[in-house]
Amino acid sequence: MFEPLHTGADPDVGEHRHMIVARSRVIVRAHGDAASRSLYRDEAAELLGRTPGDLLLGRLGDVHYWASHLDVDLDPELPDDHVLSDLRSLHGRLSDDEWNIAGRATQLLDWQRDHRFCGRCGSRTEPASSMRAMQCPQCGLTSFPRLSPAVIVLIEREDDGRCLLGRNGLWDIPMYSTLAGFVEPGETLEDTVHREVFEEVGVRVKEIRYFGSQPWPFPNSLMLGFVATYDSGEIHVDGEEVIDAQWFAPDELPMTPPTMSIAGQLIADWLGRVG
Ligand SMILES: [Zn+2]
Repeated sequence: MFEPLHTGADPDVGEHRHMIVARSRVIVRAHGDAASRSLYRDEAAELLGRTPGDLLLGRLGDVHYWASHLDVDLDPELPDDHVLSDLRSLHGRLSDDEWNIAGRATQLLDWQRDHRFCGRCGSRTEPASSMRAMQCPQCGLTSFPRLSPAVIVLIEREDDGRCLLGRNGLWDIPMYSTLAGFVEPGETLEDTVHREVFEEVGVRVKEIRYFGSQPWPFPNSLMLGFVATYDSGEIHVDGEEVIDAQWFAPDELPMTPPTMSIAGQLIADWLGRVG
């Protein structure tokens, strides 16, 4: 299990791996088409032209993981067998552990880059010593890594065994998925489920059950999955975020997301229960 750390690793002792991030993508070592891995220290040093390891991510077993930015305006020229890939296309090519670590790397480096100056007084910030945070030495403002919690919910009917899936207006493929939306300040997660479902498809739900969660680093969401039971109302889509929504029986499902996403897992779980 990965243990997040922000201090306490000696780069000269033990085994170290490096996530090099350039243009919001990650440079990995590719083995053929299928498998990839993070970079060893000498590979990372050669690529960066300097000592790698700007930001300690944590430890997986005995291996420490670090993240560094490669500052380039264009795609960098890479040695053989190195590829620059976005996180989505690395899924299934990196091990699940390393894919998660790559997501931490992009999010934490972006956050650090975006918090170099204090948002309150404008002074230059410094990494805090005792926790993962950027701190202002002038006014003391502390900025923690940014996370945006969002709920994602599968709505099922008790009467006829169908579930409600919606099609997002931004998708260029005819895919239907569970409904999702960001949590507003002051809301409980259940409040968000009720509000988002009503806003997007106009129905009321009840019996909201927690399903599970998934870090979703596109760019910094935490998806909190729920199953809810339909209560009342007719489908009426908002026409912006959701352009169509329908009740689907298990044997007439449209194209749905893959199970790498919690949306796909919610649908697979529902199929397992009703199908
Ligand atoms: Zn300040």
